[in-house]
Amino acid sequence: MTAAQHTRARVDLGVPAVRDTLPSTTDRPDVPDLVDRFGRVARDLRVSLTEKCSLRCTYCMPAEGLPPIPARQLLTADEVIRLVRVAVERLGVREVRFTGGEPLMRRDLEEIVAGCAAAVPGTPLSMTTNAVGLEHRAAGLARAGLTRINVSLDTVDRAHFAELTRRDRLASVLAGIRAAQAAGLTPLKINAVLMAETLDGAPDLLQWCLDAGCVLRFIEQMPLDADHEWARANMVDAQTLLNVLGTRFELREAGREDPSAPAEEWLVDGGPATVGIIASVTRSFCADCDRTRLTAEGTVRSCLFSDREIDLRDALRGGADDETVADRWRAAMWDKWAGHGINAAGFVPPQRSMGAIGG
Ligand code: SAM
Ligand code: SF4
Repeated sequence: MTAAQHTRARVDLGVPAVRDTLPSTTDRPDVPDLVDRFGRVARDLRVSLTEKCSLRCTYCMPAEGLPPIPARQLLTADEVIRLVRVAVERLGVREVRFTGGEPLMRRDLEEIVAGCAAAVPGTPLSMTTNAVGLEHRAAGLARAGLTRINVSLDTVDRAHFAELTRRDRLASVLAGIRAAQAAGLTPLKINAVLMAETLDGAPDLLQWCLDAGCVLRFIEQMPLDADHEWARANMVDAQTLLNVLGTRFELREAGREDPSAPAEEWLVDGGPATVGIIASVTRSFCADCDRTRLTAEGTVRSCLFSDREIDLRDALRGGADDETVADRWRAAMWDKWAGHGINAAGFVPPQRSMGAIGG
């Protein structure tokens, strides 16, 4: 990467130009659901609530954090709630997950969760969080209607945690996990990104999760870091992890929970406990992807790796009715790519980094 590109990555959010014209849908069947040209149907909605974060994981954020999204460009609580209602009522979405950035950085998170719970009763509402400060909010979020959480935790070694996240906050994360369990936000899943720095600690992390009653899933690192340091040759792959875990545990392949579940499950020491591996790079699951994403600025993103975004926020603010908004969303998803293409020659990472998309 050139110095100029580095400067660019550090001074803007990497927000792609939003397309003015909707993709053509003349060949799209007239169905309400979020179908695409490759026969997939999106049922799982990820909603990014902010670009702000309390940590600076090296595989995601630049050391100084992402530049702030101006307040008027961010979806308000009411806009998030309305879009979630449109997704569930009109577009066949069955599950909603809040993410970011760090969703706990939004002071109105409880209001958003409660509003969504009232707007789409019965729809699972979960959150992906780093759990910093969750200790003080878990009970309130559960009362507001949150059903489950995923916590990102790459290591239980304090020094490694501080190095990888550039913040010494492991104690707060562990307290947050305990508070979430006490509040009934279970089963609590832990996501760990596979990095060379923390690979040796993977068996300790698995043992910690087994003892704490958490379900652990490792994720291959994707080229979505703001610093653009990712390189295929340096990436820790699923097989390397299995070799390391195999030095302490007996692992037996148990398949996937369902075909669209990204994690391949392994029984640990004969079960019933399992560990999951999301091999997003070496064993991509794009053909079964059922995700649709809303960025914090209110654009629909059909794929993590595609910068072809369609605006919904300005449509809402311009007075569009629910069906017009739903139609824009359908058009955006019809245009979804077949796959991320990370392994193809000439692959170009997207403009937005993971924290600016919502993982
Ligand atoms: N801040 C919250 C958290 O960390 O859980 C939510 C947002 S974070 C962007 C969502 C998920 O993306 C986390 O599980 C994180 O580990 C994962 N992630 C971030 N950068 C990644 C990368 N380059 N490759 C794979 N996963 C990544
Ligand atoms: Fe923040 Fe989550 Fe990105 Fe880590 S992975 S920097 S916690 S948004």
